[in-house]
Amino acid sequence: MTKRDGPTRHIFITGGVVSSLGKGIATASIGRILVNMGFSVRIQKLDPYLNVDPGTMNPFQHGEVYVTDDGAETDLDLGHYERFLGTPCSKLSTVTSGRIYQTVLNNERAGKYNGGTVQVIPHVTDEIKKHIRALHAPDVDVVISEIGGTVGDIEGLPFMEAVRQFRHEAGREYCCCIHLAYIPYIKAAGEIKTKPAQHSVQKLREIGIIPDFLLCRAEKALGKSVKDKLALFCNVDLNNVIDLVDVPTSIYEVPQVLMRQGMDELLANRLRLPKRTCDMHAWDLMVGHIKKPKDTVRIALVGKYIDHQDAYKSVTESIDHAAYAHLLKAEIVRLESESLESDDWKKQLEGVDGILVPGGFGKRGFEGKLRAIRYARETGIPYLGLCLGMQAATIEFARNVLGLERANSTEMDEKTPHPIIVPMEAQKEFINAGILGGTMRLGAYTCTLPKKTSKAAKVYGGVDSVSERHRHRYEFNNAYRAQFEAAGLVFSGVYIPDAAKPEQSLVEIIELKDHPFFMATQAHPEFKSSPVKPHPLFRGFLGAAYKRKRGDAAGSKSEVGLPPV
Ligand code: GLN
Repeated sequence: MTKRDGPTRHIFITGGVVSSLGKGIATASIGRILVNMGFSVRIQKLDPYLNVDPGTMNPFQHGEVYVTDDGAETDLDLGHYERFLGTPCSKLSTVTSGRIYQTVLNNERAGKYNGGTVQVIPHVTDEIKKHIRALHAPDVDVVISEIGGTVGDIEGLPFMEAVRQFRHEAGREYCCCIHLAYIPYIKAAGEIKTKPAQHSVQKLREIGIIPDFLLCRAEKALGKSVKDKLALFCNVDLNNVIDLVDVPTSIYEVPQVLMRQGMDELLANRLRLPKRTCDMHAWDLMVGHIKKPKDTVRIALVGKYIDHQDAYKSVTESIDHAAYAHLLKAEIVRLESESLESDDWKKQLEGVDGILVPGGFGKRGFEGKLRAIRYARETGIPYLGLCLGMQAATIEFARNVLGLERANSTEMDEKTPHPIIVPMEAQKEFINAGILGGTMRLGAYTCTLPKKTSKAAKVYGGVDSVSERHRHRYEFNNAYRAQFEAAGLVFSGVYIPDAAKPEQSLVEIIELKDHPFFMATQAHPEFKSSPVKPHPLFRGFLGAAYKRKRGDAAGSKSEVGLPPV
């Protein structure tokens, strides 16, 4: 809509029965459908936990920390939103109980409640509603708010109550609630069970929310009688009971699954949106590529948290996106960096076509990462380093090419005789004072690509500068730059905070001249890749990895020009 027809519409997405049902993906898929109908959509995650943001949370518990352009450290679902919708999120897209309470308590200390008793209702719920409304803008047609956790969680109650109030105030016809529930299949009985979903809807109704749609996550398709039962007992129109059975190949099939059940029309009708055709052409084409890879390529992901599927979510997604662009399927071999410190390290790396070291913090497994990088450098296996993966690459180079024994980052060894990686000036006070939350160098910064002939400039398509997102405290120590350059390391990307003082520039990208593909960046390019617009660095890396696999000079000539979506 150029001029919105009526007020901003709201969609609230809640979850029931169990977590890990893919609520974020379902939310993002609904967003994509609305975008493909030509609506302007904003999307947000309301997380009931008390952390002010997920920045300080352990990836092993909570998965990766996603970073927006404006420097918010957020839940990984924002990554799904950006990848599916193709539009950047901002600080407004992430709200936690911690943030809400922090604001309310600060207000109370500042006397802003005029001596009133400060309570969950109305003060906390008002603050939540304010954050929902914060996404309103004249050109925004639909705001989607996903509520973290499952209905019945104690900490989620103020959010549910806020949703109930919001619907009441904004007009029910313009707000809808979508409930995602799990419908288990009991193998021994050979039956699909609706009771857990019924109970979770009952819990919602206790709060005063009647869902308009029921998204049913299930391993097996539901069938008419199960849907009838769910509609009757959950008080939802039969057409609005949507089957979200496991997709066979890729999460990017979920919008298609919803479309096959007429989600576009159902949503438009429910929210009184103008009827629009949902153009799925480009999306279908992309999924078609994913489903028909012509070959595979093996990428080793060397990290600290390999057991947690979501710990490197954006990285694995970006590898996949780049693989699709080459009509390939990536086989990602997750290697625990600590285990590469044992004697069989070489065996673990056998047969991989590319090695990637992602971002990370702390000492554990760091030496294993250095080993993998050395192996890539010496054997010509393509290497891509991200953030800590860049810092580690310079340390490996210092130790094994420049002969600087015990070279290290002061993050890993405060007493290193060769501090190749050191705290950024602005970070020193935070490190010394131990202030961790929200204090890193965060968000988008411009990286200048000064060398036209560098591989970085080439993979980025010949541009002079790029914008990438960051999340770090340490940087390459410029005192060592000349020594590295003399030995063949190329600094092909830099951040220049002050044009008058180029010596203050910060190393952003490094590469090796005499290597098929050895590139590393201080940034997190994985936060800017999407299935329809794979990131150039990942594309270059996957292309080189496939070239290595084929052992020929042709490399991957099959890269498809994916249509912009
Ligand atoms: N620990 C390193 C730093 O803080 C790298 C951070 C990262 O990889 N995100 O600079």
